Amino acid sequence: MQLTDAYDPQNIFARILRDEMPSIRVYEDEMTLAFMDIMPQTPGHVLVIPRAASTNFLTISPEDAAAVMSTAHKLAPAVQHAMQAPGFMVAQLNGSAAGQTVPHYHMHIIPRHEGLEMLGHGTQMADMDELAEIARRIRAALT
Ligand code: 5GP
Repeated sequence: MQLTDAYDPQNIFARILRDEMPSIRVYEDEMTLAFMDIMPQTPGHVLVIPRAASTNFLTISPEDAAAVMSTAHKLAPAVQHAMQAPGFMVAQLNGSAAGQTVPHYHMHIIPRHEGLEMLGHGTQMADMDELAEIARRIRAALT
């Protein structure tokens, strides 16, 4: 995936946005959607995406990037609280050289605990019941 590639409307996150593919949603508003990463690097790993069709940091509008940041800023304390995590990472990858695998702009929120190593990027499928329970805790922490 090159940074200059045209937007692919069939990418998995575009299909999640159109409800053609299932996802466990934790938050949504007019400009953004947040849902559980299906292959979490640590428990509680959440993705925030714009509704706008944008591939990466170079092609997203500043307004959509700001909306994603605003949603991540709202969600991070809820994720932290739900997972009782003393720390967390916010990450955003651009191009396959940087490790980006889905060509729709997204921000990762990854809870971190001392001594708990992260799993590799997109390596292990989560248990869906466990993911749904974590999502329930995150949604509860948001209210
Ligand atoms: P990237 O590698 O592009 O920065 O991150 C893509 C993320 O999307 C990975 O963490 C991967 O686990 C996650 N992912 C890939 N396919 C799906 C999917 O179908 N549903 C969900 N919820 N997450 C996905």
